[in-house]
Amino acid sequence: MSDDMRCPCGSGDPLADCCAPILDRRRQAGTAQQLMRSRYTAFALRDLAHLLVSWHPSTRPVADELARSLEDGTRWLHLAILRIEAGGPFDDQGTVEFRALAKGPGGRVELHETSRFVREDGHWLYVDGDVV
Ligand SMILES: [Zn+2]
Repeated sequence: MSDDMRCPCGSGDPLADCCAPILDRRRQAGTAQQLMRSRYTAFALRDLAHLLVSWHPSTRPVADELARSLEDGTRWLHLAILRIEAGGPFDDQGTVEFRALAKGPGGRVELHETSRFVREDGHWLYVDGDVV
């Protein structure tokens, strides 16, 4: 992975200055939106470890199943953050509505979801989401 590669999350910043430090656990997501972006990037880069550690234990999938789902050939192409409620530095919960586009094994995939996040012990975690 080259240092000047643009971050898959669409921030416009280089990956090395955006989601990579969060995936590597060198920095933690400060907001629900940052965690959301880093998880999209983890899907795009098939970073199983980050997806698991950023998933709330109550809803976290079995590692093997998640690993298999990452290997289905889906290419994540675009992320748009549509709406954010709370999820800031002074909040302990938040929601992020987003739309993500991918090319899956069966063709075009569009995921439009409102995701719920909580912060526990200073770490933002993905809980679950409603498909819009
Ligand atoms: Zn990013």
